[in-house]
Amino acid sequence: MAPASGALPLAGADAATAGAVTPSAQPVIRIALDTPADDCFDYLATPDVAPGDLVVVPFGRRSMVGVAVEHAQGSDVPADKLRPVAQRLDWMPPLQPDWIELAAFAARYYQRRLGEVMLPALPPALREAESWPGLAQRARTDEYRLLPGHAEALLAAVPPRARSVRALAQALAERAAAGEPLALADARVLCAAAPSRLAEWQAAGWVEASRTARTLLPTDPAQPPSSAPPLHEEQRAAVQAIAEAEGFAPFLLHGVTGSGKTEVYLHAMQAVLERDPQAQVLMLVPEINLTPQLQARIAARFPHLPLAVLHSGLADQERSLQWLAAHRGEARIVLGTRMAVMASLPALALIVVDEEHDTSYKQQEGLRYSARDLAVWRAKQRGIAVVLGSATPSMETWWRAGQGTYRKLVLRERAQADATLPTVRLVDLNHERQRQRALYEGLSVPLLEAIDARLARGEQSLLFLNRRGYAPVIACDSCGWLSGCPRCSAYLVLHRPERSLRCHHCGLEAPVPHHCPDCGNVDIAPLGRGTQRIEEALAARFPQARIARIDADSTRRKGSAQAMFDEVHAGEVDILVGTQMVAKGHDFQRVTLVGIVHPDAAMFSHDFRAAEHLFASLMQVAGRAGRAGLPGEVLIQTRYPDTPALQALTRHDYDGFAASQLRERRQAGLPPFCFQVLVTAEHGQLERALQFLEVARRHAETCELAAEVQLHDPVPMSMVRVFNRERAQMLVEATSRPVLQRFVAEWVRTFAEVGTEAKGVRWQLEIDPLRI
Ligand code: ADP
Ligand code: ZN
Ligand code: ZN
Repeated sequence: MAPASGALPLAGADAATAGAVTPSAQPVIRIALDTPADDCFDYLATPDVAPGDLVVVPFGRRSMVGVAVEHAQGSDVPADKLRPVAQRLDWMPPLQPDWIELAAFAARYYQRRLGEVMLPALPPALREAESWPGLAQRARTDEYRLLPGHAEALLAAVPPRARSVRALAQALAERAAAGEPLALADARVLCAAAPSRLAEWQAAGWVEASRTARTLLPTDPAQPPSSAPPLHEEQRAAVQAIAEAEGFAPFLLHGVTGSGKTEVYLHAMQAVLERDPQAQVLMLVPEINLTPQLQARIAARFPHLPLAVLHSGLADQERSLQWLAAHRGEARIVLGTRMAVMASLPALALIVVDEEHDTSYKQQEGLRYSARDLAVWRAKQRGIAVVLGSATPSMETWWRAGQGTYRKLVLRERAQADATLPTVRLVDLNHERQRQRALYEGLSVPLLEAIDARLARGEQSLLFLNRRGYAPVIACDSCGWLSGCPRCSAYLVLHRPERSLRCHHCGLEAPVPHHCPDCGNVDIAPLGRGTQRIEEALAARFPQARIARIDADSTRRKGSAQAMFDEVHAGEVDILVGTQMVAKGHDFQRVTLVGIVHPDAAMFSHDFRAAEHLFASLMQVAGRAGRAGLPGEVLIQTRYPDTPALQALTRHDYDGFAASQLRERRQAGLPPFCFQVLVTAEHGQLERALQFLEVARRHAETCELAAEVQLHDPVPMSMVRVFNRERAQMLVEATSRPVLQRFVAEWVRTFAEVGTEAKGVRWQLEIDPLRI
């Protein structure tokens, strides 16, 4: 497919279509645009546009924002068809070559076009030319200086009755006398027409413009930095290793929850930031909800340094300003979620990836990148240290650390003198039943007693259940009807406070029926439990307790999650019920009991990473107990107490668990002992999706490296239907990453042909998939 006019694809499969015309020898500039058509498109080179610039160009009949990538001599586009760049964002410094290189690597590795990586990596307001003027008002901080000897001419030129213009001219003169420039923002306050007046005076040679692009200020330079606790021996050794590392140095910081990893990050950051007054540090966290607590901690420790924050919870303009502060080198510390890994950071000197094992680092749509993996690549590119921190490292990272590819730093104990790891006990539900102790709404006697004891002592309890809503399904007693989603192979979840049935996959909402839609029976009942039902049960059982529920439903309103976490920290909550939102990272100082209500569902997954993820998430949530002083206890309710992951948890034995996982993976030839690519296809009919994959497989067999990769059979996905589309997948594996990369690059080009055979099929390629 060639674009309608103007720009034609340079390279790739389509270049041949331009063959009939005479290519031009004109100098061109190549621009990356967010389209799958090609990596770059050619435009007339003009002196004002340079690589790294953000530009607007005509593309067919539209205009699009793009990134200027490089100059080139000559083009396949005939000279009379080459068009110039329409607009350039002139106040933004160009993106640096290393940023362009990063995007190019990601595009190559994840099999996307350059612009499909670059443009989405920019904040939304920069991606849309319509928002440039608004952004300019806040982001460009122009300054004007009256040149010596021109004050008289300037004042004489002011029309007699133009009072605001006179005020502007006088202000310029006064500032000049004091040897200072006048900021555009101040000029506007004096005179609404300041920009055009200043431009005139500049043209007349009376005034000189300059730019000091400062949008981000230190938190509070007058404030003394918060005091750091004296590091314990292991922390000191870790900080020293990171601070003294030279060149590319990847570290795994393995430390149990509460062992003081964050303290290590802060000290290592300090060392790097003090060594070089320009240096920038990037710190990634898995969840937006973790940024406020950490932001406060960083700001208190480095009140004299500008700190930028990047995550999708920020308003468009704000996010752009933070991004620009990073890009212009003003921000010395950048804290963000996975998207921040693509931030432009000209003086990047250290990267920290907290909770490196967290699956949130994997983007699940569009460019399906792993922010952790890109962080390591970036560190290598710049020749700097990268610290991957976790209590439960991913098997990939653990394996590399074991091999010596990453240097392992270990923190064995909880940092605070009086904090110890919580005791972890399994509550065997089979045993409970033998003793004829019925569960109360899914809660066992030992768990209820433990909550009681916390209430009596004024301590907090946290109940973890990774399932929101009231009940995962409602059922008819007499005919067996279940509340299935008509569009998905999933059940509609009962949301009682909202009085609706909801599909968590396609968003369908339906009223709760009063009787069975199939047989008319009025005895239809919720089956199973979600957080809402647990909350209700606790309220009935402990009427005196203050109970809070934190999940995606209770925190829909902006800021409400933070408000609820604040309440928990302030001790205004006795029992907290929540999904994974409460599990990660939070430093709850007064939680002494963690109850894991129902981990069993996670044990029957076909995914080979299920055990790893279960262990990591339970270890995380268990880590919320007993962080300060008071001893903590974790109760895990289960019908399968012999599960190795649960047994390992009772011993806090990550090392043993990881060793057994790696043994199994090696035997089965699974990652990290092989590399995978997952192709998924979807269509209204399952047959067509499978057929697409079949044809793709036949094409694969013609590729050069086909003998060195293993192509599995196309199969329906375990959740086969979502929003009326049937989904199938095919897994491709190889023991060498470069081989798989080369194979996929060749293979994916054949997909265009498959496409014509299987119209209407949407396909996707995922490199290093996390869930299979
Ligand atoms: P992690 O990131 O491993 O969960 P943190 O760095 O948040 O651990 O530390 C957990 C708690 O221990 C925090 O309250 C922190 O202030 C405290 N802490 C960390 N290092 C020390 C130390 N060396 N001495 C005393 N307290 C410490
Ligand atoms: Zn029925
Ligand atoms: Zn649905």
